[in-house]
Amino acid sequence: MKKNLVAILIAIFVSLVIISAAFAQGEELTLSLSKDFGSSGFNSDIQGTFTVKASGPANLERVQFFLDETLLGEDTEAPFAIQFVTDNYPTGAHDFTAIGFTTDGKQIGSKTISAVFVSKEQASVAGFKMVVPILAVVFGFMAINTVTNMINILKAKKLPAGAPRNYTSGGGICPNCRRPFGFQLLGIHMFGRKLTPCPHCGKWSIFKRASMNELYTAELAELDTEKAQIYEVSDEEKLRKELDDSKYQNL
Ligand SMILES: [Zn+2]
Repeated sequence: MKKNLVAILIAIFVSLVIISAAFAQGEELTLSLSKDFGSSGFNSDIQGTFTVKASGPANLERVQFFLDETLLGEDTEAPFAIQFVTDNYPTGAHDFTAIGFTTDGKQIGSKTISAVFVSKEQASVAGFKMVVPILAVVFGFMAINTVTNMINILKAKKLPAGAPRNYTSGGGICPNCRRPFGFQLLGIHMFGRKLTPCPHCGKWSIFKRASMNELYTAELAELDTEKAQIYEVSDEEKLRKELDDSKYQNL
């Protein structure tokens, strides 16, 4: 009885090994397409120089690559790959397949990769069509931003210290010149912060929305700084006058 059981177990084990070996042998080649030079767009449109690659079991000896039904080429050394130029073939839909040959004389197939060959003109038109709207949006946004910033700076130059501001879209205080200003509705916002140049000194910063209290305090501080600046100027003028006076005295 025991001998029989062992025999059955061995038989099961051996058949499992055979089955898994058969699975391993029955595997497909992995096929991939990569761009060397050219363009690849939506709908698997390709144009230019591409390489079709295949990989499989360790005992893979050579691979034949097919474009539709015709042999594209054969590679007898790993990594198995064939380079081709789409312009050498008619435009339209094409299928890639490969057959691998192992050292023990087995043949392995592959899945099919489909691609649409397009002409250079079609590829550049497609690329242009993709790029133009993106560029239009980017440049449009940049133009709007530049114009609003310029308006901000022009407006602010006329804005004396202590002048009333519009804080309806919130406001911030410049870390450079400490002057408060009202935010424009348009602009670059991120995580509740605003990236904008200071309309007073023109320095770009990321501004946190300041509270009304902080803004008014800053407005008052702004008045004080301006007064201080006026005094500084008048002190300088006094000194200059004294110097001039001393010159005359020396004469
Ligand atoms: Zn500033």
